[in-house]
Amino acid sequence: MYNEEDYLQLSGIQHFSFCRRQWALIHIEKQWAENPLTAEGQIVHSRAHDASATELRNGVLTVRALPIHSAVLGVSGECDAVEFIQSEDGISLHGREGLWTVRPVEYKRGRAKVGDCDRLQVAAQAMCLEEMFSCRIDSACLFYYETRRRETIAVGSELREQVEKMLTEMHKLYQDGYTPKVKPSKGCANCSLAETCLPDLMKPGDRSVADYIKEHMESV
Ligand code: SF4
Repeated sequence: MYNEEDYLQLSGIQHFSFCRRQWALIHIEKQWAENPLTAEGQIVHSRAHDASATELRNGVLTVRALPIHSAVLGVSGECDAVEFIQSEDGISLHGREGLWTVRPVEYKRGRAKVGDCDRLQVAAQAMCLEEMFSCRIDSACLFYYETRRRETIAVGSELREQVEKMLTEMHKLYQDGYTPKVKPSKGCANCSLAETCLPDLMKPGDRSVADYIKEHMESV
């Protein structure tokens, strides 16, 4: 169990699974820079949070921008939306009649990704909600703005183990204040922190660090 002051930002899971160094630059070193992709992501989330009112439609109660946390995982954050679905297998909710199952919904720019970063983030949200509402959540949803598609994912044991393992590693790095070294990947081309991280310094080739700095200064 973690103390509240040691909670990490849940959304960091996505950064961490994309690149451990990017996560450390943002969450340990407090570096941030926007690029078109991050700006688009901010717009998507502000849109998702626009309808801040709770809505009940066809037996589904939707609550937007719900703060969440888990003392077991040591994280806190916010769900874009949480759907409470009327069901005999559900839990009771304060001020509402009947029983309800719980399902987080995360809104994303673009389309479904090859990697697991979005699935890990929404699975971690489901695990927080389980702890908060003392319930079991078997599925969660991702909505992609570009394709206008909603993907339902199973929150299975493999995904849960990945979330736990990743968060344990994140807590360790955070406590040690350690930023992992550059590991250039295809993702560097889309990384808003490339100017801070300087991944080109690690590329194999015949350029020396002095050559790189000279070239960079000339371009500036
Ligand atoms: S530039 Fe590449 S190595 Fe550096 S933080 Fe971004 S993704 Fe990670």
